[in-house]
Amino acid sequence: MSGDAKIIEVLKDAGLRPTKQRICVGRLLFTGKHQHVSADRLQLQIRELGQKMALATIYNCLHQFHKAGLLKKVNAVNDVIMFDTNLSYHHHFLNVDTGELTDINKEAVSIAGLPSLPDGFEALSMELTIRVKPQI
Ligand SMILES: [Zn+2]
Repeated sequence: MSGDAKIIEVLKDAGLRPTKQRICVGRLLFTGKHQHVSADRLQLQIRELGQKMALATIYNCLHQFHKAGLLKKVNAVNDVIMFDTNLSYHHHFLNVDTGELTDINKEAVSIAGLPSLPDGFEALSMELTIRVKPQI
């Protein structure tokens, strides 16, 4: 199956119509290797391929992919939203100098002493972000 056929299938399976823009963004995201991307970085990558896409269009694609369960959102530095293709439960190192996220396997973290939840609430998720910067 060609790359695009696979992406079209991924989009259709997620209930998304495979538009030209979604296929273009999906081609960069679903490479088989997990990655963390921002809309800005994707726009640069699209430019490098000699194509053009408005930032708002890229944001729309990313939010639609997120809503359809194809991406996770991670808050990075300066309110930048990073999108993560790794949907499994895991944690992150966040380099505050570069904004780069690195996955931490869930097995590498154990969290004890959690508070009980507020009455009437259930836990949906809990992810740890360890903010790091290079030592001087
Ligand atoms: Zn991740």
